[in-house]
Amino acid sequence: AHEGILRRQAARESAARTYARALPIVPVRARGLTIEGADGRRYLDCLSGAGTLALGHNHPVVLEAIRKVLDSGAPLHVLDLATPVKDAFTTELFRTLPPGLADRARIQFCGPAGTDAVEAALKLVRAATGRDGLLAFTGAYHGMTAGALEASGGASTVRVGRLPYPQDYRCPFGLGGARGAELSARWTENLLDDTKSGVPSPAGMILEPVQGEGGVYPAPDAWLRRMREITAARGIPLIADEVQTGVGRTGAFWAVEHSGIVPDVMVLSKAIGGSLPLAVVVYRDDLDVWPPGAHAGTFRGNQLAMAAGAATLAYVRENGLAERAATLGARMLAQLRSLAAHHPCIGEVRGRGLMIGVELVDPHANAEPGAASAQQHLDAPLADLAPTAQPRPPAPELAAAVQRECLRRGLIVELGGRHSSVVRLLPPLTLTDEQATAVLDRLADALATAAH
Ligand code: PMP
Repeated sequence: AHEGILRRQAARESAARTYARALPIVPVRARGLTIEGADGRRYLDCLSGAGTLALGHNHPVVLEAIRKVLDSGAPLHVLDLATPVKDAFTTELFRTLPPGLADRARIQFCGPAGTDAVEAALKLVRAATGRDGLLAFTGAYHGMTAGALEASGGASTVRVGRLPYPQDYRCPFGLGGARGAELSARWTENLLDDTKSGVPSPAGMILEPVQGEGGVYPAPDAWLRRMREITAARGIPLIADEVQTGVGRTGAFWAVEHSGIVPDVMVLSKAIGGSLPLAVVVYRDDLDVWPPGAHAGTFRGNQLAMAAGAATLAYVRENGLAERAATLGARMLAQLRSLAAHHPCIGEVRGRGLMIGVELVDPHANAEPGAASAQQHLDAPLADLAPTAQPRPPAPELAAAVQRECLRRGLIVELGGRHSSVVRLLPPLTLTDEQATAVLDRLADALATAAH
């Protein structure tokens, strides 16, 4: 059955399918961290539905919540009508929102994917400001529909101003850490205050507090605060895309809490549906300029997803899983960094909480001295911004080999980053210490084999 299913699907599905090409397995059963394939093999799943499964596969609390709806005779589809299930979901979600937004929040159900909620957020800020332009960042990933694509990294379009995200390791200016972040902030101010075109300021800024698909780059807290100040001072709504970082993943319930910033708009999906498709946009009430019917859609707020999501949000909150992600994630990062000391092919280990990336580089290349040219773009003296050494070239083939070796050892990992050279770990927040050790042992073993 296993081989037949793989063969038939490979023939039927578009070559554009992503995960299935690198992970030739046929999952038939799953529980927690573990997936079992049709061939009887078991895998530790650190992809977690691309960061969706905060509680792992088939958590009893989630299954129970879904069963309860199924057994209650409640309708499974009622467009966007109010239901007890929706009431319970919004109550639980509003309880988790950052202070400053929680007491003035409006929610719009979008659906069913993260990219739908991104579209809604972009449309909302354009409606609220009457402006059109948008500020987005290099390396961003917001989804695959037109507006979300426009805001994602890649060739930019005229409607989107692209700002350098403070990627520490691959800082576009050859400046690491706080200095690169400072330069990014000054660049942003400089761009916004250059008003000679007569074009009104942008409708909004959209950012990920930790870039996920872009290669796991946590934004410095100080930089996020600067972005908040810069946008607030100019009346530009700030949209935090917490599709991947939300629900405890980074060690806080929402990743913006680390920096204390309060965004005007939050885009939420993945884990909020407890493994079923659900996406919402949450925003401050004064932005709620939409007249009735201004944002429609047939599949908004699936009842089963809202029930599974409410159960997940409550479980994460009641069991302190965000704090757990913070401590376990810090330990795993430290262990991976000591592993890096023995493997010159590890360029950098990055992450926050249980959102972890290991960037693989060419171990034989020499590090290049950094370039200082970006300084000329800025007014302020930047004598303190000395360039750092440029990192060694990324090693996508090695990363693919590590992913294959991991799979052979029963470990599922994802690749990310603009060169697909970052091995990504997104384990469930329910990961135990023993499971974390097993994951890191298998990864270390896979790395040792692939690097030879
Ligand atoms: N935003 C972010 C930050 C994401 O990571 C993703 C998905 N990886 C999306 C938006 C798009 O979500 P979806 O794939 O559900 O459309």
